Amino acid sequence: ERIVDASAEGDDQAVEAALRPKDLAEFVGQEKVRQQLDLVLKAARQRGATADHVLLSGAPGLGKTTLSMIIAAEMNAPIRITSGPAIQHAGDLAAILSSLQEGEILFLDEIHRMSRPAEEMLYMAMEDFRVDVIVGKGPGATAIPLDLPPFTLVGATTRAGLLPPPLRDRFGFTAHMEFYEPHELERVVCRSAGLLDVAIDPAGAAEIAGRSRGTPRISNRLLRRVRDYAQVRADGAITREIAAAALGVYEVDSRGLDRLDRAVLTSLLKLFGGGPVGLSTLAVAVGEERETVEEVAEPFLVREGLLARTPRGRVATPAAWDHLGMVPPQAAGP
Ligand code: ADP
Repeated sequence: ERIVDASAEGDDQAVEAALRPKDLAEFVGQEKVRQQLDLVLKAARQRGATADHVLLSGAPGLGKTTLSMIIAAEMNAPIRITSGPAIQHAGDLAAILSSLQEGEILFLDEIHRMSRPAEEMLYMAMEDFRVDVIVGKGPGATAIPLDLPPFTLVGATTRAGLLPPPLRDRFGFTAHMEFYEPHELERVVCRSAGLLDVAIDPAGAAEIAGRSRGTPRISNRLLRRVRDYAQVRADGAITREIAAAALGVYEVDSRGLDRLDRAVLTSLLKLFGGGPVGLSTLAVAVGEERETVEEVAEPFLVREGLLARTPRGRVATPAAWDHLGMVPPQAAGP
C-alpha cells in the first residue's frame, strides 16, 4: 500500500465521506467545471426537468464521486452508486435502471469497464429512457420493452478517450478534471483540518499540499498521517516542521515522490548516468517488475517533468538531477 496512491483502496470510507464537500460552493478549485455544471443544473431546475447526462473524466482522487453526490444534492434527488466492473451482465444493469426513481442520479464509476452488452443497453436507456428486457433463451427469446423514468447518468472515467464514441456522444455535458494547483490543495487541507478539528498554520498546509501530487484524496490522507504525528510527537498543532518531519517518516519527499519513485530516479542517475536506458534494464536495477516501474512510478515522474520516455529509453531531465541534489556528468564535447 503506497500512501501516495490516488485510488481509494484501503482508505477509511467514513473519514473520506466526512471530508466530502456537500455543495458546489464548498468544492475547491476546478473553476470552469464548477461554473459550467452550475449552469447546467440551474437551467434544469428552472425547467423542472432532469439534468442532462454528465461525463466526468480525470485521474483517481480528483473529486468525481464527490461531484456526482453534489449533483444529486443540488438537484435534490436521490443517488445510486455503482461501477462498470460491478455490472457483469446486461441484466444487472436492467435491474438497476428499472428500479430508478424519476430524476434519480445514477453514478457509474469506471464506466469504460462495463461489459459490451450492458454498454449497448445503456445507449438506449440514456437516449430514449427505455430498455429491452430479454426473456427466455435461444430462438424463443423475446425482447420486452420497458419504459424508464427520466434519470441523470453521471459517468466517471479515468480517460474519456477510452469510451466508445457512441457512448461518449450520449452525454449532454462532459467535464475534464485537472490535477489541482498547490494553492487549491492548501484550501483542501485547511478545510479538512477544520472538519477534523486539527490546528494547522498556513505553512503546514502548504507543506502537505506540495507533497500531494495534485490530488485532494492524497492531501486528505497525508493530513491524517501528519495529524497522528503532531498528536504523538508534539502538541497536536501542525506546522511546516511537523508536516515535513511526519511525511519524512512516511518517506514522502518535498515534491510528493515516495521511496519507489526515488529508487527509480536514483538508479537512472547513479547507475546509468541519467540514461537513456531501457525499461527492463532499469526495472532490474531497481529490483521491481517492469510493469511496476512503468505503470506505478513513471506516470507521476513524467508528469512532474523528472523523467522522459524516449525511443532510445528512459532519460532523466535536468530537474531530476536537481531534485536529487546531484550534478549531471559533463556532456562529452565533440
Ligand atoms: P474520485 O471519485 O475522482 O476518485 P473522490 O470524489 O472520491 O474522487 O474524492 C476523493 C476525496 O478527495 C474525497 O474525500 C473528497 O473529500 C476529496 N476531494 C476531492 N475533490 C475535492 C475538492 N474539489 N474539494 C475538496 N475536497 C475534495
